[in-house]
Amino acid sequence: AQQLGGTRIQCHEPEQVSRKIRARAIERAMWTAIEQEEFNLVYQPQVSMIDGRLIGVEALLRWTSPTIGKVFPDQFIEIAESNGFIQEIGRWVLKKATRDALHLPSDVEMAVNVSALQMLDADLIGDVQASLRESGLSADRLCLELTESVFMTPSHCVVETMRDLEMLGVSWALDDFGTGYSSLAYLSTLPLRKLKLDKCFTQALGEDAHALTIVRSVVKLCEGMSIELLCEGVETEEHAQLLLAERCTEAQGYYYGKPQSIDDIRRNFLSARQA
Ligand code: C2E
Ligand code: CA
Ligand code: CA
Ligand code: CA
Repeated sequence: AQQLGGTRIQCHEPEQVSRKIRARAIERAMWTAIEQEEFNLVYQPQVSMIDGRLIGVEALLRWTSPTIGKVFPDQFIEIAESNGFIQEIGRWVLKKATRDALHLPSDVEMAVNVSALQMLDADLIGDVQASLRESGLSADRLCLELTESVFMTPSHCVVETMRDLEMLGVSWALDDFGTGYSSLAYLSTLPLRKLKLDKCFTQALGEDAHALTIVRSVVKLCEGMSIELLCEGVETEEHAQLLLAERCTEAQGYYYGKPQSIDDIRRNFLSARQA
């Protein structure tokens, strides 16, 4: 789009056009994807860098459509948020993830992403309760991950939902910390157990002197507020060493494991334990 003499002219590059066509195809295929069992969850390990122990897994959604092929969440979550289908997807994810969590030892947490729109849905608390009840999973093993974008428009309702779920025993993690609309003010008012430092900071570690400074201040912030810190996007031994030296102990990233099936999690991380 360009501004020309006050009139807005839309020019679509061929690439944009094909993206639009794909978006429309995704939107159409989405509605039947749940009943046709096209969705699937994979789990990425969250580990203690001190001893490599598995402390949790994050459920990540995968969709293989017979008509469009593999669709990644970055492509369809946004669409599902705009057409409201995210509520349906969110329910399915909660149900499946809480059931799968039972295949892991009781000290391993299940982390589930909750999108901003789900937070504004009155049913979220009921959906979480139902999934816990039906699976039999203990509430303290469920951690819900929320991004900062939900606080862009400060809403009393969001904080209230967080508190209500916390009362049930569920915990909250602030996802992609540092990338969004960070207002340090809300940190102290939210019932957060954990911050997940966005992968861009980890990945800048060897290259950008400021990245280390940021990590250091976030570590201090979390220590001061008694919030746990998990660093995302740990891809190399060097990342792990640098972070450990700054007293970051929890991590997630390709160095420890890619998103994988629950059976692979058991095989790869629990063979020496009570798997
Ligand atoms: P996220 O919550 O920040 O999830 C982490 C993303 O980073 C995942 O991508 C994961 O595969 C990727 N990742 C993990 N380790 C590394 C690493 O070491 N290096 C790099 N470069 N990337 C890494 P994925 O699975 O494509 O998910 C993308 C986003 O989609 C997620 O970001 C999350 O916001 C959203 N999402 C995924 N599943 C769900 C879901 O069930 N519900 C909702 N509402 N959103 C979801
Ligand atoms: Ca997440
Ligand atoms: Ca993240
Ligand atoms: Ca993200």
